[in-house]
Amino acid sequence: MQHFDVIVIGSGPGGEGAAMKAAKEGKSVGIIERHHEVGGGCTHWGTIPSKALRQAVLRLIDFRTHPLVAHLTEDLEIGFAELMQTAEKVIRSQVKLRANFYERNRVKIYHGNACFIDNHTVAVSNPEQGTKVEHLHGDGFVIATGSRPYRPADVDFTHPRVRDSDTILALRETPKTITVYGAGVVGCEYASMIRNIGIKVNLVNTRDKLLSFLDDEIADALAYHLRDQGVLIRQEEEAERVEPLDDGVVLHLKSGKKIKTDILLWANGRTGNSQGMGLEEIGITPNARGHVPINEHYQTAQKHIYAVGDVVGFPSLASAAYDQGRFAATHLIEGHCDQRLVQDIPTGIYTSPEISSLGKTERELTEAKVPYEVGHSLFRSLARAQITGQTVGMLKLLFHRETLELLGIHCFGAEAAEIIHIGQAIYSQRGPANTLMYFINTTFNYPTMAEAYRVAALNGLNRLF
Ligand SMILES: Cc1cc2nc3c(=O)[nH]c(=O)nc-3n(C[C@H](O)[C@H](O)[C@H](O)COP(=O)(O)OP(=O)(O)OC[C@H]3O[C@@H](n4cnc5c(N)ncnc54)[C@H](O)[C@@H]3O)c2cc1C
Repeated sequence: MQHFDVIVIGSGPGGEGAAMKAAKEGKSVGIIERHHEVGGGCTHWGTIPSKALRQAVLRLIDFRTHPLVAHLTEDLEIGFAELMQTAEKVIRSQVKLRANFYERNRVKIYHGNACFIDNHTVAVSNPEQGTKVEHLHGDGFVIATGSRPYRPADVDFTHPRVRDSDTILALRETPKTITVYGAGVVGCEYASMIRNIGIKVNLVNTRDKLLSFLDDEIADALAYHLRDQGVLIRQEEEAERVEPLDDGVVLHLKSGKKIKTDILLWANGRTGNSQGMGLEEIGITPNARGHVPINEHYQTAQKHIYAVGDVVGFPSLASAAYDQGRFAATHLIEGHCDQRLVQDIPTGIYTSPEISSLGKTERELTEAKVPYEVGHSLFRSLARAQITGQTVGMLKLLFHRETLELLGIHCFGAEAAEIIHIGQAIYSQRGPANTLMYFINTTFNYPTMAEAYRVAALNGLNRLF
């Protein structure tokens, strides 16, 4: 039986982070991946395809609206499948790059489904290789098996008109109308992107507000701009049943409404991939949502078996999964990890407009009775935004009115997910280095979007006097 110091299960960002860290520390590492290519859900069904597709859509819009070439594009018919081809190219590049990492670092890849048969042995079975099962023995393990869309038993996902975020990518025809059920990050991102292709979209939200974890002003801006683009948002609605037909699919809501569209995209929740892995048999019991319980070191009930990424639940981001993987591998090898994992993880939401946030919201600060002040910078007043034509957006800084400590950064508009990192560098400083004055006393390139920080800081400071 093949033996490894570390066996990693799953080759998404969580597994990759763990495998690379362990290999760099000189450990023998094996990684098991049930898909025929490495990269994880992140590369094949989640982050990468959705963002590449979005970029292709945004480019098409730029082209269609550019005054010099818009007239050339009037009869141009580009559908969902064509746009998806550009995403496919990115997926190919990512897979090649990541497969190379494993090869260069001598990490052995096994393609197959991993299942524990005791707390130091996993069986790897691959239906394509018939009944052959390979057994691997490990001193330590990292489970990084990710998550999948939640599929209620009474919804027929085998019907071609009923899709989730995995199967929507295989759509070949461009529908005229879509209902997106579930207005979390994935639902909002797809609703926004699909609308940008020109498809009519109903976005059904089970709550009374979009993305209620965001600062209210930002969440309201998202709702305003989605509506402005033509997305019909229906709040506080719950599905009663889904009725797929030959010529469409009807979503019956508990409120009595019926919405018939060409396609239904079900985007309501995710489940951790922990089933069928023999976990209960070795004393690890996932919760009802498939999440594997862990301690602060990412150790499961079996201390030499760690779990990271989506399979442990919040925050379910590729960025966090990678860091958790590195953390777990360090702890596994050294028995401790002094590296502090970032507690305040920025949120990047790739809707149109893009959204990014870090730190406290106004609501949280008000509830905690923190005396804060607000500084705004509207993109439409920035030279750079006027030059690029991307004038929709705003940067908002929340800071302590006595110490000027930065408490929250909230941004929407083009490149918000990049812009947030400028503020993050100051926000993450401890003590007096974290103050609004940095943005006032520094010199920004001109014209840049970074200048929004200076404008927002001055705007906030002026409110104090
Ligand atoms: C539509 C969408 C958009 C997203 N956009 C973003 C974004 O913009 N930014 C961001 O940070 N995050 C985004 N995410 C979330 C991000 O994709 C996940 O947080 C990330 O992929 C989690 O990484 P992971 O390593 O935990 O798991 P995954 O990337 O899901 O990888 C898990 C791997 O484990 C394999 N596996 C599962 N079970 C077994 C088994 N028993 N044996 C062997 N292999 C197994 C799977 O085949 C898979 O390849 C998005 C998700 C979705 C669905």
